[in-house]
Amino acid sequence: MTLTQGQAPASVAPETTKEGRMTTLLSIGAFARATRLTLKALRLYDELGLLPPARVDPASGYRWYAPEQVERARLVAWLRRLGMPLARIAEVAALPPGAAAEAVAAYWARVEADTAARRELATFLVDHLAERGRPAMTDHTLALRCAARSDRGLVRELNQDAAYAAGGLLAVADGFGAGGEAASAAAIDALAPLASGLPGGADLLGALEDALTGLAVREGAGTTLTALVRSGSRLALVHIGDTRAYLLRDGELSQVTHDHSYVQSLVDEGRLSPEEAESHPQRALLLRALPDAGGSGPDLSLQEPRPGDRYLLCSDGLSAIVPAAELADALRAAADPDAAVAALVDRALGYGAPDNIACVVADVVAA
Ligand code: MG
Repeated sequence: MTLTQGQAPASVAPETTKEGRMTTLLSIGAFARATRLTLKALRLYDELGLLPPARVDPASGYRWYAPEQVERARLVAWLRRLGMPLARIAEVAALPPGAAAEAVAAYWARVEADTAARRELATFLVDHLAERGRPAMTDHTLALRCAARSDRGLVRELNQDAAYAAGGLLAVADGFGAGGEAASAAAIDALAPLASGLPGGADLLGALEDALTGLAVREGAGTTLTALVRSGSRLALVHIGDTRAYLLRDGELSQVTHDHSYVQSLVDEGRLSPEEAESHPQRALLLRALPDAGGSGPDLSLQEPRPGDRYLLCSDGLSAIVPAAELADALRAAADPDAAVAALVDRALGYGAPDNIACVVADVVAA
C-alpha cells in the first residue's frame, strides 16, 4: 500500500533512520490525512503502543510518522472497524501477513459462534415472552415415552453419571471431582419439582434458572447437565457442559446442543477440525459446568417436538466413545426407548467403556 496522489503531506521533516538512511517524516496532520484516521485516534494508538510515532519532538512533543507506517495504521483502522478489541489488534498487527490472516479468520469464526449463541438466546426470549402474552396453555396433545440408563462402564471405580426420565423431565448429568456423583444427582433433583410439567404460561425461564441457582455441591465437585422439561406441547432444553442432546427426526440424527468444552471452542475458532477434536488429549476439559457462580448460566432453548421424533440425551461416555453414525444406527433400529438405551449402552461397552455412561431416549407420541 502506498500514499495515494492528492494526499501529499502538508509538512515534512527530514530524518535519519536507525539504518542511517535519510527519510521524510510526516507530521501527525499529514499522517492523519494519509491514513484517514483522526488525530484523537492516532494519539490513542500511540498511548496503547499500537502505533508509536517514528519520532516525538523532545521540545514540543509533536509527533512525526514514517511513510512506511501508513500500512500498519490502515490495518489497525480496519481491525477496529471489524470490532476487534485493541489488545487483540496489538497482537495481530505484530504478526507477519500470513499469520495475521489466520488470526483474523480465527477471530471472525469466534464472533460468528458468539453471534449464533446470542441468536439462540434471542429466539428463546422471543418465544418465551410471546408465550407469556398468551393465555395459559392446556395443550397436552403430545406425550413422551422414555427410558433412562446409567452404567459405571468397564474402567471407572465409581459411577458419577446420572440419568433420569419420568413424567415431564428427561435429564443426564456427568459429575466430576470428589463427590461428583452427588453433584450430578443434585442437578437432576433440582429439576425434579418441574417434572410434572410446567404450565405454558408459567415463567419458564425464571423457573429453570431458579431451580439451578445456588446448586449446593461439595467444594471441588461439579457436574454437566442436559435436560428437557415439558412445557405444554413444547420442550424446554437446559444445557451446560459436554453432555449432549440429539434429535432423530425423519431418520436423520442431528446434535441439538453445543458443547461447552475447550476443544469445541477450538473448532468454533477454526483452529481444529471436528475430526481432530474427537481424539484431542484435552477433549474432556470443560469451559462451563454447574455450579456456575457468576457465569452466564446454562443455555436455554425451546424445542418444538413432533410425533415421531426420538430424542437422545447422553454423557461423553457414550458420545465420545461410540461414533455418531453408530448412535444413529442404534436409534433408528430400536423398536422403543427401552431397547434403544440398552443397545446404546451395549455399544459403549463394546468399545471398552472407559468412562461412565448416561443415556436417555424419549419418543414423542400423539397423546
Ligand atoms: Mg464423562
